Amino acid sequence: MSQTETNTADNILSLNSVEVLYDMVMLAIKGVSIEVPRGGMVALLGSNGAGKSTTLKAISGLLRAERGKVSRGEIVFDGKPIGDSLPQDRVAMGICHVIEGRRVFEHMTPDENLEAAAPMSMSRSKINDEKARMYEYFPRLAERKSSQSGYLSGGEQQMLAIGRALMTQPRLLMLDEPSLGLAPFLVKEIFGILQRINEEQGMSILLVEQNAVAALEIVSHGYLIENGRVVMHDTAEALKANSDIQEFYLGGGEGKNFHEIKHYSRRKRWLS
Ligand code: ATP
Repeated sequence: MSQTETNTADNILSLNSVEVLYDMVMLAIKGVSIEVPRGGMVALLGSNGAGKSTTLKAISGLLRAERGKVSRGEIVFDGKPIGDSLPQDRVAMGICHVIEGRRVFEHMTPDENLEAAAPMSMSRSKINDEKARMYEYFPRLAERKSSQSGYLSGGEQQMLAIGRALMTQPRLLMLDEPSLGLAPFLVKEIFGILQRINEEQGMSILLVEQNAVAALEIVSHGYLIENGRVVMHDTAEALKANSDIQEFYLGGGEGKNFHEIKHYSRRKRWLS
Protein backbone atom coordinates (compact mmCIF):
# COMPACT_ATOMS: atom_id res chain seq x y z
CA MET A 1 0.00 0.00 0.00
CA SER A 2 1.46 3.39 -0.90
CA GLN A 3 1.40 6.32 1.49
CA THR A 4 -1.32 8.06 -0.50
CA GLU A 5 -3.57 5.00 -0.35
CA THR A 6 -3.44 4.88 3.44
CA ASN A 7 -6.45 6.36 5.19
CA THR A 8 -5.11 8.85 7.76
CA ALA A 9 -7.79 7.85 10.31
CA ASP A 10 -6.43 4.30 10.23
CA ASN A 11 -3.02 5.49 11.39
CA ILE A 12 -2.00 5.51 15.03
CA LEU A 13 0.95 7.74 14.07
CA SER A 14 1.73 10.12 11.22
CA LEU A 15 4.74 12.34 10.72
CA ASN A 16 4.21 15.04 8.14
CA SER A 17 7.37 16.66 6.72
CA VAL A 18 9.15 16.68 10.07
CA GLU A 19 12.47 18.47 10.42
CA VAL A 20 14.71 18.25 13.49
CA LEU A 21 17.45 20.67 14.48
CA TYR A 22 20.10 19.93 17.08
CA ASP A 23 21.80 22.87 18.81
CA MET A 24 19.73 25.24 16.62
CA VAL A 25 22.03 24.56 13.63
CA MET A 26 22.43 20.87 12.81
CA LEU A 27 19.55 19.69 10.59
CA ALA A 28 19.39 15.95 11.39
CA ILE A 29 16.14 15.03 9.64
CA LYS A 30 14.81 16.94 6.67
CA GLY A 31 11.13 16.59 5.92
CA VAL A 32 10.44 13.04 7.07
CA SER A 33 6.90 11.74 6.51
CA ILE A 34 5.96 8.32 7.85
CA GLU A 35 2.81 6.51 8.85
CA VAL A 36 2.17 3.62 11.23
CA PRO A 37 -1.23 1.98 10.70
CA ARG A 38 -3.25 1.11 13.81
CA GLY A 39 -2.17 -2.38 14.85
CA GLY A 40 0.55 -2.35 12.20
CA MET A 41 4.24 -3.06 12.33
CA VAL A 42 6.55 -0.73 10.37
CA ALA A 43 10.36 -0.50 10.10
CA LEU A 44 12.64 2.50 9.72
CA LEU A 45 15.76 1.25 8.01
CA GLY A 46 19.04 2.94 7.21
CA SER A 47 22.70 3.08 8.03
CA ASN A 48 24.57 4.84 10.85
CA GLY A 49 23.72 8.49 11.25
CA ALA A 50 20.78 8.37 8.79
CA GLY A 51 18.38 9.93 11.30
CA LYS A 52 16.43 6.90 12.57
CA SER A 53 16.98 7.47 16.30
CA THR A 54 16.32 11.18 15.89
CA THR A 55 12.97 10.35 14.31
CA LEU A 56 12.01 8.17 17.31
CA LYS A 57 13.16 10.88 19.75
CA ALA A 58 11.02 13.44 17.91
CA ILE A 59 8.00 11.15 18.44
CA SER A 60 8.66 10.38 22.13
CA GLY A 61 9.77 13.93 22.94
CA LEU A 62 13.24 12.85 24.12
CA LEU A 63 14.87 15.37 21.77
CA ARG A 64 14.51 18.07 24.39
CA ALA A 65 17.09 16.36 26.60
CA GLU A 66 19.62 16.57 23.74
CA ARG A 67 19.10 20.20 22.73
CA GLY A 68 17.09 18.98 19.76
CA LYS A 69 13.89 20.51 18.45
CA VAL A 70 11.24 19.77 15.83
CA SER A 71 11.67 22.90 13.72
CA ARG A 72 9.06 22.10 11.08
CA GLY A 73 6.28 19.62 10.34
CA GLU A 74 3.67 17.86 12.40
CA ILE A 75 3.55 14.70 14.54
CA VAL A 76 0.05 13.28 14.95
CA PHE A 77 -0.70 10.47 17.41
CA ASP A 78 -4.15 8.94 17.44
CA GLY A 79 -5.53 11.90 15.48
CA LYS A 80 -4.02 14.61 17.74
CA PRO A 81 -0.94 16.77 17.13
CA ILE A 82 1.52 16.03 19.95
CA GLY A 83 4.41 18.32 19.02
CA ASP A 84 3.87 20.55 22.07
CA SER A 85 3.33 17.71 24.57
CA LEU A 86 5.86 16.87 27.26
CA PRO A 87 7.58 13.45 27.05
CA GLN A 88 5.75 12.23 30.18
CA ASP A 89 2.40 13.20 28.64
CA ARG A 90 3.29 11.22 25.52
CA VAL A 91 4.02 8.20 27.75
CA ALA A 92 0.61 8.67 29.35
CA MET A 93 -0.93 8.70 25.85
CA GLY A 94 0.60 5.27 25.26
CA ILE A 95 3.82 6.03 23.39
CA CYS A 96 6.67 3.86 24.65
CA HIS A 97 10.23 4.34 23.36
CA VAL A 98 12.77 1.59 24.07
CA ILE A 99 16.01 3.46 23.51
CA GLU A 100 19.11 1.86 22.06
CA GLY A 101 21.29 -0.02 24.53
CA ARG A 102 18.99 -2.28 26.60
CA ARG A 103 18.53 -0.04 29.61
CA VAL A 104 17.56 -2.11 32.65
CA PHE A 105 18.21 -1.68 36.37
CA GLU A 106 21.30 -3.87 36.60
CA HIS A 107 21.27 -4.27 40.39
CA MET A 108 17.69 -5.46 40.42
CA THR A 109 16.39 -8.87 39.37
CA PRO A 110 14.33 -9.22 36.17
CA ASP A 111 11.26 -9.71 38.34
CA GLU A 112 11.93 -6.43 40.20
CA ASN A 113 12.64 -4.70 36.88
CA LEU A 114 9.24 -5.75 35.55
CA GLU A 115 7.52 -4.69 38.79
CA ALA A 116 9.21 -1.29 38.69
CA ALA A 117 8.01 -0.70 35.12
CA ALA A 118 4.32 -1.22 35.96
CA PRO A 119 2.29 2.02 36.13
CA MET A 120 1.40 3.23 39.66
CA SER A 121 -2.28 2.81 38.85
CA MET A 122 -1.96 -0.89 37.98
CA SER A 123 -3.52 -3.25 40.54
CA ARG A 124 -1.50 -6.05 42.20
CA SER A 125 -3.44 -8.78 40.41
CA LYS A 126 -2.99 -7.03 37.05
CA ILE A 127 0.76 -6.65 37.69
CA ASN A 128 0.96 -10.37 38.44
CA ASP A 129 -1.01 -11.21 35.28
CA GLU A 130 1.20 -8.97 33.15
CA LYS A 131 4.39 -10.42 34.63
CA ALA A 132 3.11 -13.94 33.96
CA ARG A 133 2.42 -12.90 30.38
CA MET A 134 5.99 -11.54 30.03
CA TYR A 135 7.40 -14.82 31.34
CA GLU A 136 5.25 -16.67 28.85
CA TYR A 137 6.59 -14.52 25.99
CA PHE A 138 10.15 -14.68 27.29
CA PRO A 139 10.73 -18.08 28.99
CA ARG A 140 14.44 -17.21 29.35
CA LEU A 141 13.47 -14.37 31.68
CA ALA A 142 11.35 -16.75 33.79
CA GLU A 143 14.39 -18.98 34.22
CA ARG A 144 16.53 -16.02 35.31
CA LYS A 145 13.90 -14.03 37.15
CA SER A 146 15.76 -13.99 40.48
CA SER A 147 19.28 -13.35 39.11
CA GLN A 148 20.87 -9.93 39.08
CA SER A 149 19.91 -8.31 35.75
CA GLY A 150 23.45 -7.00 35.19
CA TYR A 151 24.59 -10.60 34.76
CA LEU A 152 22.03 -11.46 32.09
CA SER A 153 23.29 -11.98 28.53
CA GLY A 154 22.81 -9.21 25.97
CA GLY A 155 19.83 -11.04 24.47
CA GLU A 156 18.20 -11.55 27.87
CA GLN A 157 18.72 -7.88 28.74
CA GLN A 158 17.08 -6.92 25.46
CA MET A 159 14.14 -9.19 26.30
CA LEU A 160 13.90 -7.56 29.72
CA ALA A 161 14.00 -4.05 28.19
CA ILE A 162 11.13 -5.05 25.88
CA GLY A 163 9.29 -6.73 28.78
CA ARG A 164 9.60 -3.54 30.85
CA ALA A 165 8.17 -1.53 27.95
CA LEU A 166 5.26 -3.97 27.57
CA MET A 167 4.44 -3.70 31.30
CA THR A 168 3.33 -0.11 30.56
CA GLN A 169 0.76 -1.52 28.07
CA PRO A 170 1.69 0.93 25.31
CA ARG A 171 -0.45 1.67 22.28
CA LEU A 172 2.65 2.36 20.18
CA LEU A 173 5.85 0.49 20.96
CA MET A 174 8.98 2.05 19.41
CA LEU A 175 12.17 -0.01 19.51
CA ASP A 176 15.60 1.37 18.61
CA GLU A 177 17.85 -1.34 17.16
CA PRO A 178 16.79 -4.28 19.33
CA SER A 179 19.04 -6.60 17.28
CA LEU A 180 22.23 -4.64 17.95
CA GLY A 181 25.13 -6.94 18.87
CA LEU A 182 22.98 -10.07 19.14
CA ALA A 183 23.63 -13.46 17.54
CA PRO A 184 21.32 -14.23 14.58
CA PHE A 185 19.40 -16.95 16.48
CA LEU A 186 18.58 -14.48 19.26
CA VAL A 187 17.49 -11.83 16.76
CA LYS A 188 15.17 -14.42 15.23
CA GLU A 189 13.80 -15.36 18.65
CA ILE A 190 13.19 -11.75 19.75
CA PHE A 191 11.72 -10.69 16.41
CA GLY A 192 9.42 -13.74 16.48
CA ILE A 193 8.13 -12.60 19.87
CA LEU A 194 7.57 -9.05 18.59
CA GLN A 195 5.56 -10.47 15.72
CA ARG A 196 3.49 -12.53 18.17
CA ILE A 197 2.83 -9.49 20.39
CA ASN A 198 1.77 -7.48 17.33
CA GLU A 199 -0.59 -10.22 16.14
CA GLU A 200 -2.01 -11.30 19.51
CA GLN A 201 -2.38 -7.91 21.16
CA GLY A 202 -2.80 -5.77 18.04
CA MET A 203 -0.03 -3.54 19.38
CA SER A 204 1.31 -1.00 16.88
CA ILE A 205 5.09 -1.27 16.56
CA LEU A 206 7.65 1.06 14.98
CA LEU A 207 10.97 -0.71 14.67
CA VAL A 208 14.27 1.07 13.95
CA GLU A 209 16.81 -1.32 12.50
CA GLN A 210 20.04 -1.51 10.56
CA ASN A 211 19.38 -5.24 10.22
CA ALA A 212 16.99 -4.87 7.29
CA VAL A 213 17.03 -8.56 6.47
CA ALA A 214 15.60 -9.49 9.88
CA ALA A 215 13.25 -6.49 10.12
CA LEU A 216 11.67 -7.03 6.70
CA GLU A 217 10.70 -10.55 7.75
CA ILE A 218 8.29 -9.27 10.40
CA VAL A 219 7.02 -5.82 9.32
CA SER A 220 4.39 -5.04 6.70
CA HIS A 221 6.02 -1.80 5.48
CA GLY A 222 9.42 -0.20 5.61
CA TYR A 223 10.91 3.26 5.16
CA LEU A 224 14.52 3.64 4.13
CA ILE A 225 16.17 6.76 5.55
CA GLU A 226 19.40 8.22 4.18
CA ASN A 227 20.95 11.51 5.27
CA GLY A 228 17.82 12.58 7.12
CA ARG A 229 15.40 11.89 4.26
CA VAL A 230 13.07 9.04 3.35
CA VAL A 231 14.51 7.73 0.08
CA MET A 232 12.22 4.72 -0.28
CA HIS A 233 8.91 3.52 1.17
CA ASP A 234 7.12 0.32 0.27
CA THR A 235 5.75 -2.99 1.47
CA ALA A 236 8.25 -5.36 3.06
CA GLU A 237 7.81 -7.75 0.15
CA ALA A 238 8.56 -5.07 -2.44
CA LEU A 239 11.56 -3.81 -0.48
CA LYS A 240 12.95 -7.33 -0.15
CA ALA A 241 12.61 -7.80 -3.89
CA ASN A 242 14.20 -4.43 -4.72
CA SER A 243 17.60 -4.94 -6.30
CA ASP A 244 19.08 -1.76 -4.81
CA ILE A 245 18.05 -2.88 -1.31
CA GLN A 246 19.35 -6.36 -1.93
CA GLU A 247 22.67 -5.03 -3.13
CA PHE A 248 23.04 -2.61 -0.23
CA TYR A 249 21.94 -4.94 2.55
CA LEU A 250 22.83 -8.37 1.24
CA GLY A 251 26.44 -7.75 0.30
CA GLY A 252 28.27 -5.80 -2.40
CA GLY A 253 27.37 -2.44 -0.94
CA GLU A 254 29.81 -2.16 1.91
CA GLY A 255 31.33 1.26 2.33
CA LYS A 256 28.93 2.90 -0.12
CA ASN A 257 25.83 4.83 0.78
CA PHE A 258 22.42 3.99 -0.60
CA HIS A 259 22.55 6.79 -3.20
CA GLU A 260 25.78 5.46 -4.66
CA ILE A 261 24.29 1.98 -4.87
CA LYS A 262 21.12 3.34 -6.46
CA HIS A 263 23.01 5.28 -9.11
CA TYR A 264 25.35 2.36 -9.69
CA SER A 265 22.41 -0.02 -10.10
CA ARG A 266 20.56 2.34 -12.41
CA ARG A 267 23.68 2.69 -14.53
CA LYS A 268 23.94 -1.08 -14.58
CA ARG A 269 20.34 -1.39 -15.73
CA TRP A 270 20.79 1.23 -18.47
CA LEU A 271 23.92 -0.50 -19.69
CA SER A 272 22.35 -3.94 -19.73
P1 ATP B 1 22.66 5.19 14.43
O1 ATP B 1 22.15 3.88 13.94
O2 ATP B 1 24.13 5.33 14.29
O3 ATP B 1 22.14 5.58 15.79
P2 ATP B 1 20.69 6.94 13.27
O4 ATP B 1 20.12 6.66 11.93
O5 ATP B 1 19.85 6.58 14.45
O6 ATP B 1 22.11 6.25 13.39
P3 ATP B 1 20.79 9.56 14.45
O7 ATP B 1 21.39 9.08 15.73
O8 ATP B 1 19.38 9.95 14.42
O9 ATP B 1 21.04 8.48 13.30
O10 ATP B 1 21.67 10.78 13.91
C1 ATP B 1 21.30 11.58 12.78
C2 ATP B 1 22.27 12.75 12.68
O11 ATP B 1 22.09 13.61 13.81
C3 ATP B 1 23.73 12.33 12.70
O12 ATP B 1 24.42 13.18 11.84
C4 ATP B 1 24.14 12.55 14.13
O13 ATP B 1 25.52 12.86 14.22
C5 ATP B 1 23.29 13.76 14.53
N1 ATP B 1 22.98 13.76 15.96
C6 ATP B 1 22.37 12.76 16.63
N2 ATP B 1 22.20 13.12 17.94
C7 ATP B 1 22.71 14.36 18.07
C8 ATP B 1 22.83 15.28 19.17
N3 ATP B 1 22.36 14.97 20.38
N4 ATP B 1 23.41 16.48 18.93
C9 ATP B 1 23.87 16.80 17.69
N5 ATP B 1 23.78 15.99 16.61
C10 ATP B 1 23.22 14.77 16.79
